Amino acid sequence: MPRAVKMRRAAGAVGRRAAPARPSVPLLRFLGATETVTGSRFLIDTPRARVLLDCGLFQGLKALRERNWATFPVDPASIDAVVLSHAHLDHSGYVPALTRNGFAGRIFTTEATTALSRIVLPDSGHLQEEDAAYANRRGFSKHVPALPLYTEEDALRALQRFTALPFGVPSDVAAGVRITFQSSGHILGAASVSVSLDGARMRRIVFSGDLGRPQHPILQPPAPLPEADVVLVESTYGNRQHEDVESLRRFESGLVRTAERGGMVVIPAFAVDRTEVILFRLRQLMHAGRIPSLPVYVDSPMALATLAIYRQALAERNAQVRPELCGSDDPFDPGRLVEARRVEESIAINDQPGPGIIISASGMATGGRVLHHLVHRLPEPRNTVMLVGFQAEGTRGRALADGAKAVKMLGRYIAVRAEVVDVPAFSVHADQREILNWLKATRHAPEVTFIVHGEAPAAASLHAAIESELGWAAAVPRYLEQVRLD
Ligand SMILES: [Zn+2]
Repeated sequence: MPRAVKMRRAAGAVGRRAAPARPSVPLLRFLGATETVTGSRFLIDTPRARVLLDCGLFQGLKALRERNWATFPVDPASIDAVVLSHAHLDHSGYVPALTRNGFAGRIFTTEATTALSRIVLPDSGHLQEEDAAYANRRGFSKHVPALPLYTEEDALRALQRFTALPFGVPSDVAAGVRITFQSSGHILGAASVSVSLDGARMRRIVFSGDLGRPQHPILQPPAPLPEADVVLVESTYGNRQHEDVESLRRFESGLVRTAERGGMVVIPAFAVDRTEVILFRLRQLMHAGRIPSLPVYVDSPMALATLAIYRQALAERNAQVRPELCGSDDPFDPGRLVEARRVEESIAINDQPGPGIIISASGMATGGRVLHHLVHRLPEPRNTVMLVGFQAEGTRGRALADGAKAVKMLGRYIAVRAEVVDVPAFSVHADQREILNWLKATRHAPEVTFIVHGEAPAAASLHAAIESELGWAAAVPRYLEQVRLD
């Protein structure tokens, strides 16, 4: 039989949903995070077990978000285990939907990711319920009635399936599948995942997860890449070199300028980790007298709950955090910190004329309380919006970064007259040089390296760099592509 025909038959056998769905050879299947930074989902599909690495939400462009609503590519009930690299929603946010749709196995992750998921996932369910209710009240959803993808209750049920595993200890998660977590230095709890497969020729698979930066101010650098046959590496900033000094200078000068105008700086920030990094930097700048001492409003119950977990990690001298920060003063309090938990406290910030700094979620202005602050502050030229993280295609954050003169929020168009400052130095993703350094520290070149979790230009650029600088075989997988591991 010609080889091409044989391969097509093998692919067809695993593609049918109703079939017993065990492939005859071990496969790696790319169910997300291809040509996008969201929807991280990779399936290891062997004759004996089916393990899903990451179970993220698609975010950003509508065509991507619609995948959250499509039938999952394999029957969730046929998946034996889920392994989560970290607590960001683009890696974990589909878990409640998977569980509601029949997944009945365990969800393995680290202890800190479990703690953060207890905050992030119910909040995600709650936000989706709120968005659906809001759309129904205002009548701006095309779906009548608008339904949430999952509810807070679904998220709480999914959390009962979590099992925390320690870093560095190999653990069996399904028949013939063993995993080991190592710190990826991205956010607290974040891990790269080494998978060891029985019965496969390419049996050592390493998924980078989201790769942090060696100079993260709070976390230790990522652990080096272990030897592997197959590597999946993220490429969020695969086409960029972070200009740290320049970015920090922009951050500082933007704050000074806005303070001189008496304006308010709105910082949309991921609740997990980014808020901590910004508070840490603000404290440094204020203590050094480089920016005026300003009130800093953290307006996000989720960010505040996360802050408590970071403070606890410092108190416990968690191995992922930098030891020099443990046992000192609270590194997250710039001096005039205002923690807004209740809705009334959030609304009261609107009465503050400035100067001041508001840190609020979500990080790409796709939802959350930051929308209300943007509606309130964007039309005034004395205010500033500071973008401190990656802004995915199709998000309001990207539109602002690209210079939009108006953005649609809560059903209305809002004029953008405030200053917009883009500060990528706060990214907690490695840039191209840092990714290459992480890869080449391994002793032997992997047989193949897959570039995932990046928009097309970023993935293509990292692809070229891996081939030319490291001389490794590499590929950018397509959505729903599968490859054999035998
Ligand atoms: Zn992440």
